[in-house]
Amino acid sequence: MVPVNDPMLLTWIIVGVLAAGAIVTAAVVVGRRRRELTGRTTPELTPDTSVATDEKDADAAPSAPGGAPAPPAPSTLDVPEASSTRLSRLRRRLAGSNNVLAQGLLGLLSRDRIDEQTWEDFEDTLITSDLGVGPTQELVTKLRRELSIDGVTDPQAARATLRRVLVALVDPSFDRSLHITGSDGDPGVVLVVGVNGTGKTTTIGKIARLLVAEDHTVLLGAADTFRAAAADQLQTWGSRVGVETVRGPEGGDPASVAFDAVAKGVDAGVDVVLIDTAGRLHTKTGLMDELGKIKRVIEKRAKVTEVLLVIDATTGQNGLIQARIFSEAVDVTGIVLTKLDGSAKGGIVVQVQRELGVPMKLIGLGEGADDLAPFTAEGFVDGLLGE
Ligand code: GDP
Repeated sequence: MVPVNDPMLLTWIIVGVLAAGAIVTAAVVVGRRRRELTGRTTPELTPDTSVATDEKDADAAPSAPGGAPAPPAPSTLDVPEASSTRLSRLRRRLAGSNNVLAQGLLGLLSRDRIDEQTWEDFEDTLITSDLGVGPTQELVTKLRRELSIDGVTDPQAARATLRRVLVALVDPSFDRSLHITGSDGDPGVVLVVGVNGTGKTTTIGKIARLLVAEDHTVLLGAADTFRAAAADQLQTWGSRVGVETVRGPEGGDPASVAFDAVAKGVDAGVDVVLIDTAGRLHTKTGLMDELGKIKRVIEKRAKVTEVLLVIDATTGQNGLIQARIFSEAVDVTGIVLTKLDGSAKGGIVVQVQRELGVPMKLIGLGEGADDLAPFTAEGFVDGLLGE
């Protein structure tokens, strides 16, 4: 039993309760302050990493004392769209864009009987949609076999067969998650490569928004130092969601900018550093040397967790050639296919994946800030078939 009538003990209890209250209050205040500094609060309103990185940026985004990031004014920030709503919106766009492939596929099923000529026309359609000869023959052989067993008289069943065969061709077994988790507390480092004009910078901007919407802290590195416009463009994307861009002098060493960005990301404790690179295919050796050096130099500070190759869907077979060259220069771990909204050739998805043995991870479906969606075999096929 507690002797509550003891005045000395009562005094100590009161002192103890008051002290505990003070400690809890202090912890809450410190915690809130820490979250403000590291940007771990609601991403739409108080994103982190807006540290100024060079004299040029210093006016636009002043650092807080001690080098801590100073969040930009919340009213100037965009609220990125959540991936759940963007997926259904973008699926409709996918259905509209790949009409050659989709019409070819669905046209096949709208017949009572499929004769040799129809199969040949169907093959031609698939090849024109950049599916490639090998995958086309594989698809046709499988479909012929399955439809000869089940027939095409039941449109629902035929459609289900088509869906199943297509999903298998796009390969649902790939791990398509973005590798953005670094080891030992380091940030994940995503290196983005590809020919100029394919949409690298735009894609990095869109990925940054996707990550911010998912409550990650992000830092951008403008290692395309050959064009000042590229760094400006990247910085604009970042600033819209309160994400800082580390940049260097125009014409400076790209590897050194990439290193600075990653070093800053490690020091600031951000979750992910996204690095933009130049994609000049001037000479194959030059490209290999440059990308190889960037990766090596970054890895003096933190491991590169993902190398994304950006390919423009409208370039068709050219995209495939680029894919080969880049994958020789650097170990590509994922593909982003941009401009699928402007291409009727969705078949390239299968060809590029096969060629590199690397999964398609994201698709760009427009110039809008949130027109980027995670790729899934089922979602892609459903988009094609308009389901
Ligand atoms: P980079 O040189 O590889 O960095 O390419 P940019 O990011 O500057 O993009 C080149 C052009 O492609 C820009 O006009 C972008 O708006 C456009 N673009 C990028 N992704 C897409 C996409 O998914 N769809 C469409 N329609 N345009 C895109």
